[in-house]
Amino acid sequence: MRACGDGSHSEMNETNIRLCIPEVSATLLNGAALVAPRDVQGVAHRPPPGSNGLLDALLRGAPQNWVEELEAVTMTAGEALVQTGTSPAYVTFPTGGLVSVLVRSGPAANAEVEVAMVGRHDLVGASALLGTDPASHRAVVQVGAPAYRVSAAAIRRLMETCPPARALLLRYVRMGLEEAYQIAACNSRHSLEKRLCRWLLQAHQRLESDTLPFTHDHIAQMLGVRRASVTVALHIIEGERLIRSTRGRVDLLDRTRLQNAACDCCGAIAHNRRVLSLDGSLERAAAPSCTPC
Ligand SMILES: [Zn+2]
Repeated sequence: MRACGDGSHSEMNETNIRLCIPEVSATLLNGAALVAPRDVQGVAHRPPPGSNGLLDALLRGAPQNWVEELEAVTMTAGEALVQTGTSPAYVTFPTGGLVSVLVRSGPAANAEVEVAMVGRHDLVGASALLGTDPASHRAVVQVGAPAYRVSAAAIRRLMETCPPARALLLRYVRMGLEEAYQIAACNSRHSLEKRLCRWLLQAHQRLESDTLPFTHDHIAQMLGVRRASVTVALHIIEGERLIRSTRGRVDLLDRTRLQNAACDCCGAIAHNRRVLSLDGSLERAAAPSCTPC
């Protein structure tokens, strides 16, 4: 039996088509044009190639008409896409911006610590891929951008019926776990200065920009440290002309030297991404922002 993502639908017998494309329409089987996904206003859109690397890879493996499950939305800064104690209703594929995955470390309002950064080569709501249990974290938009989203139920149905899509998404979940493990180790072992350099490089990779629109307060909360400590660390690396820090903004001036000043965790995360890209699809999806930093 052929897998439904091997690009050979036209050669598949009818039984296999039913297995892999359970809701396919007769017109699609006859080769009619795809119906594009629709946004909240009902306007049809189709994700341009490169909008989200992971979504590109997923659409390569999913049945053609699955694109109709997608909805174009806008992520707004401060919006929580995943709330603690609830099962995500949607899985979101950003086409830009940055989303932080936050875990609460205590009762204080500022006790959330960032354990993962999500950009336009990732998805938000990975816990929904594994079932309907409530999430133990929040996912909050830090820099807004357009995105595509799909209902959690629809993507779980895809995983049940399409082995290539399931394999891709489970590999992505594994990659996310490895990244979280690495960041946990980084937070407990490495100096604030090195962690700060790592964080700035990761933010650069997600935003694909040398200009990072973050305050000292924000960076301190993401790293789980006091603002004054971040200000001191920023001044140190600014004194070495690696960055320029102004109100609400950090500019990366010399990324090569910033990489040398960072701990090895950013490179380890990039290595994990490459190792887990068993067939290259995630590696293609992640390029170029996930090359070793
Ligand atoms: Zn580290």
